[in-house]
Amino acid sequence: MGFMDLSPALNALLAGLFGLLVGSFLNVVIYRLPKMMERQWADECAELGGKVPESGKKFNLLAPRSRCSSCGHILRWYENIPVLSYLFLRGRCLVCGTAYGLRYPLVEAVTGALFYFCAWRWGWTMTALAWCGFSAALLALAVIDWDTTLLPDDITLPLLWAGLIVAALQWNPAVSLPVALWGAVAGYLSLWLVYWAFKLVTGKEGMGYGDFKLFAALGAWFGWPALVPMILMASVIGAVIGIGMKFSGGLREGGYVPFGPFLAGAGFTALVFGPQSILQFVGL
Ligand SMILES: [Zn+2]
Repeated sequence: MGFMDLSPALNALLAGLFGLLVGSFLNVVIYRLPKMMERQWADECAELGGKVPESGKKFNLLAPRSRCSSCGHILRWYENIPVLSYLFLRGRCLVCGTAYGLRYPLVEAVTGALFYFCAWRWGWTMTALAWCGFSAALLALAVIDWDTTLLPDDITLPLLWAGLIVAALQWNPAVSLPVALWGAVAGYLSLWLVYWAFKLVTGKEGMGYGDFKLFAALGAWFGWPALVPMILMASVIGAVIGIGMKFSGGLREGGYVPFGPFLAGAGFTALVFGPQSILQFVGL
């Protein structure tokens, strides 16, 4: 009996468990990728200044091994099991007792749930695999942008290309290649225009180029007709939360609210309920 013969429920469960592991890796990406970018910038600045780059130690997504950020204790395999380790250790380091954020098990659980959903919805198909990859990339982008207000090109650009390739291979039966291509173009240009209009009028920058690339990627994955509902949802929820943060004093320096998490939220809504459901929800 092959994988294909398993019942849909078991398929979805296996995909969900795999998603927990991917979520564990996403935690590493979320934590390390911005630091890797900072190191690279520091190195480039040092080289421009005629100095020798300082970052000698290996630091990438695979090395060094995960450790407690407080005491440096290297995590053993049983401290690194998605969600379960957090529950058994009650969210604390085994050695120094420092509390780990709820963030880690949450990212793992959400990734698991998204993979479960994709396998349940599309079965053991390339369509499901593609949407699992999409979900993982989008979740990482949302959290990184929330933390650092960065949307790394290392994730947005592959996500954009992947959306076009998935459409070209017809893995996503709902979106043809022209619809995906124009989705990417219109996604990028629309936010680029808003950015320049806003900048000319107010002299401020309301978004970053990462937002254009992310919206282009969403256009590639869902096709151009999905752009209007997604931008509506992201703008309305972003504005509500931004205003809420302003009144509760939760805004960070410069009063900047990253837009990426709201674009990602609209992307997840489009994935689970379909892009047109957003319009129905607001009564359009
Ligand atoms: Zn520790």
